[in-house]
Amino acid sequence: MRIFIKTYGCQMNERDSEAGGAMLAERGHELVTNENEADVLIFNTCSVRDQAERKAIGKIGFMKKLKKTRPELIIGVMGCMAQNRGEDLFRELPHIDFVIGTGQLHKLPDIVESIAEERSAQVTLLDPDNAVLTGMGAHCQNSIFASIAITRGCNRFCTYCIVPYVRGREISRDIADIVAEAQELVDGGTREIMLLGQNVAAFGLDGNINPPPPDHSPFAELLEELVKIEALKRIRFTSPYPSYFNDRLIATIAANPKICRNIHLPVQSGSDRILKAMNRNYTAEQYRNIAAKLLDKMPDLTFSTDVIVGFPGETEEDFNATRSLLNEIGFDNAYIFKYSPRSGTAAFKLDDDVPQAIKEERNQILLKDLAERSAKFNIKLNGSVQEVLVEGVSKRNTERWSGKTTNSKTVIFTPSDGIKPGDLIKVKINRVTAVSLFGEIVEKE
Ligand code: SF4
Repeated sequence: MRIFIKTYGCQMNERDSEAGGAMLAERGHELVTNENEADVLIFNTCSVRDQAERKAIGKIGFMKKLKKTRPELIIGVMGCMAQNRGEDLFRELPHIDFVIGTGQLHKLPDIVESIAEERSAQVTLLDPDNAVLTGMGAHCQNSIFASIAITRGCNRFCTYCIVPYVRGREISRDIADIVAEAQELVDGGTREIMLLGQNVAAFGLDGNINPPPPDHSPFAELLEELVKIEALKRIRFTSPYPSYFNDRLIATIAANPKICRNIHLPVQSGSDRILKAMNRNYTAEQYRNIAAKLLDKMPDLTFSTDVIVGFPGETEEDFNATRSLLNEIGFDNAYIFKYSPRSGTAAFKLDDDVPQAIKEERNQILLKDLAERSAKFNIKLNGSVQEVLVEGVSKRNTERWSGKTTNSKTVIFTPSDGIKPGDLIKVKINRVTAVSLFGEIVEKE
């Protein structure tokens, strides 16, 4: 059968789609990129925002017409919305054939094949207390960049977040399995790996939400094993909850330049009152200290972050505390969200009392600050020599190539003979814009 998978939401969902597609391909099915050519349409959905659910429901609803003209078409929904709404989805979308919740990915090929034979609707959902880790390691094809999911679920229960309810309790894979998966990818040509998890830095802590003592970090142990893979040139990870950056983890990152010098450190707010209402277990001061410790060991480090504006009860003073924290740490990238209540979360019960116009205004202020910081940061890099992992031909100008620095900056350069994707080269920067750096190669691998 020809299979089309449409993915909504985060990198974890992208990864699940890839793994699901790879398992189907191993069974002899063909993955296609055009939905009109497919025998099976799979929608891997997101539940983090109401809008994301509505978008997916709209798209899947639109498939009803297609199903009328092609009744043999199999349509399925997987991912967080499938987990969240379960069997109710059959009422809302009676033309779908299956619903697969999170953590049930390994059942995808069997379910698709049995529907093709028996044409009976199927549903399988995660039991959050009995999560399994199968089906996380399959990959579609080798490329320079690959992602590996190292944990599933989350135990932190931030009050605005639906993830612990739809992805279940936190569970970590074995180090040996992850290292074997990484080795296989690297043998096939991968040079940069992104480790994924809702809270990657809690890896191996058996779901214990108390951050470990300063000298204990199973996540650091995993990183130390991965850096030993010789042909692996770079390791990134996302997202780590700030409190898990203890001395052991910071020392490991600092000692291993293969671990990229750009860390995503979600802050959410700079106001202690709001952080408490969000059930984040750190204060703004503790967050500052973590960032300062990281910078002390790695002055070349850059940070990105997540911020929510307009959380219930957020005053002008709270917002200004967030704004000054962001400017002080100097994040050069930030994902800024306007708070929207999410049914099923603890914050849903709070009065969503910040008017939409104020949320929008605060969002715009932070975006403007961010653009100014980014531009200033890039100007400082003009004239510097940057190590770049080559990606290939630039999307905007086919005569130039692009790659990324360890700080996640995109560099556009003129290619030269012998350069290939996956090489680490040195580029002298001679022009910068707010989003990219431009330069010429000064050293090849
Ligand atoms: S740490 Fe908080 S925001 Fe992140 S997935 Fe877990 S509950 Fe959601």
